[in-house]
Amino acid sequence: MPDRRSDSNTGAFDVVIVGAGFSGLYMLHRMRELGFAVRLYEAGEGVGGTWFWNRYPGARCDIESVEYSYSFSEELQREWQWSERYASQPEILRYLNHVAERFDLHRDIQLETRVTSATFDEIGYRWTIETDRGDQVSARFCIMATGCLSTAKLPEYKGLETFQGNWYHTGNWPHQAVNFEGQRVGVIGTGSSGIQSIPMIAEQASHLFVFQRTPNFSVPAQNGPLTPEVSQDWTANHAERRQQIRKLPFAIAIEHSPDSALAVPTEERQRVYEQRWQRGGFAMMGAFADLIFNKEANDTAADFVRSKIRGIVSDPAVAQMLSPRDFPLATKRICVDTGYYATFNRENVTLIDVRDNPIEEITPTGLRTRDAEYALDSLVFASGFDAMTGSLNRIEIRGRTGATLKQKWAQGPRTYLGLMIAGFPNLFVVAGPGSPSVLSNMVVSIEHHVEWIADCLVYIRDRGISGLEATEAAEDEWIAHVNAVANMTLFPLANSWYMGANVPGKTRIFMPYIGGFPNYQKKCAEVTARGYEGFVLSIPDRSAAGAAQAASW
Ligand SMILES: Cc1cc2nc3c(=O)[nH]c(=O)nc-3n(C[C@H](O)[C@H](O)[C@H](O)COP(=O)(O)OP(=O)(O)OC[C@H]3O[C@@H](n4cnc5c(N)ncnc54)[C@H](O)[C@@H]3O)c2cc1C
Repeated sequence: MPDRRSDSNTGAFDVVIVGAGFSGLYMLHRMRELGFAVRLYEAGEGVGGTWFWNRYPGARCDIESVEYSYSFSEELQREWQWSERYASQPEILRYLNHVAERFDLHRDIQLETRVTSATFDEIGYRWTIETDRGDQVSARFCIMATGCLSTAKLPEYKGLETFQGNWYHTGNWPHQAVNFEGQRVGVIGTGSSGIQSIPMIAEQASHLFVFQRTPNFSVPAQNGPLTPEVSQDWTANHAERRQQIRKLPFAIAIEHSPDSALAVPTEERQRVYEQRWQRGGFAMMGAFADLIFNKEANDTAADFVRSKIRGIVSDPAVAQMLSPRDFPLATKRICVDTGYYATFNRENVTLIDVRDNPIEEITPTGLRTRDAEYALDSLVFASGFDAMTGSLNRIEIRGRTGATLKQKWAQGPRTYLGLMIAGFPNLFVVAGPGSPSVLSNMVVSIEHHVEWIADCLVYIRDRGISGLEATEAAEDEWIAHVNAVANMTLFPLANSWYMGANVPGKTRIFMPYIGGFPNYQKKCAEVTARGYEGFVLSIPDRSAAGAAQAASW
């Protein structure tokens, strides 16, 4: 049974993990396998992370389910069959609950507990972790599996507190089904969550008003049931397939053409795009090798998607409004939809451009833009997340010098390999800024990080040393590399959440590593092979307390 609230709120662990999504669950399993004393804290009432919180209608993965799942257990792989090409949120949540049950993880998980602070003590070389439930525990290692998209961002509109209807954020959706039947509903935001939920809400609402500031590129998922043949084939060959996937730039199984979009005749280019569109999902990204490097090449793909929008949406003015023009294709995470553009052909759907006609106020009965007033029964904020740094910055993390991580990151996140931070010994981040993270199939990146961290902890334990810390020099060099690689691409041209541009006041800096998963994996392996290059290993702890600690390992 899940341990909803532990009675013991003090104690000493080898490892404390924060967060019970894909990252935390596997991290916990690995730590237990390796014999570490471990405790995991999770703010939610259940495990699943992203898939626990994002229960909005239409929520599903945008990477094919067979790939968007763990590879670490052959048995797990064999016993779980996905029902659709892109699994829906309830199915992914069932999967993660199954993982927690199957590996008996709940006995070391404390739910409904938010970690509020983590303070490093240099003398004992340990972290003290405090929670909103009054726990105060100590751990040699603290692993932040807090998620990149786990702090929902609510736009600050005047008057929200006066609204008399119900309002929701897609990233914090109620557990009971929400019924919009017969209602006038407003959706604010047309990023991935908006694009997934709008077609579903439109089917229920009497009228749906979509308030769009920035149109996004979306491609069809071409979702459908997974046939038993496809499932069986994947199960039989998954080890080999997954190995192939790890060699691909985003660790996603798409075919990458080596050709330039500008080197082929127009008809051939169109044929390739059409084929990729029909294949669905991220296939479009691999159509040509220069799409994310060369604006002219990118324009050909962007024009193709815009022509598709014009072909699907019957009102040319609406099609025009839905067509992105301000940023290159894929420099904001490309959305993967089911029936998004066609939804705007419905009589009960109205698109409102709020870029030139901004929302001025939420009123008791709806919403007022500069030009008009809309009566609404419910409001849905599909306004995204304080990505990559939001959840870490909400915890008061004090490192070796006493400064907080938030202070250190005031000008943008700085990490070594996205895994560790100078000044914060023995603190690890899973899929943090500076790693491929959100630019990859995250489950692949997460498994890689969990395994790297686990190996590192065993290395430390085997040598009886207290821990390790990234050096400032290694961190500076890595961040310079992260930025240099980003600047070789078109990504910095977009005001994206990758750049922190969706949060007012957040420093504009490209946060994930775009150098590709294989290069990144190679770099991490080299660092390890060179005896943790770029890290300072702390001197062996020869004190009586240290000896006792070593003995307890
Ligand atoms: C709607 C949606 C769809 C997505 N689809 C895909 C996809 O198709 N493919 C893909 O690769 N990625 C996708 N992602 C990204 C997704 O976040 C990752 O794939 C993955 O689920 C992240 O797992 P995680 O464990 O690292 O973080 P999360 O799943 O975010 O889990 C972090 C957990 O930490 C907890 N937490 C945070 N702070 C604290 C604290 N202080 N104390 C206690 N607990 C805390 C949170 O409550 C949360 O449960 C999607 C994201 C969203 C929002």
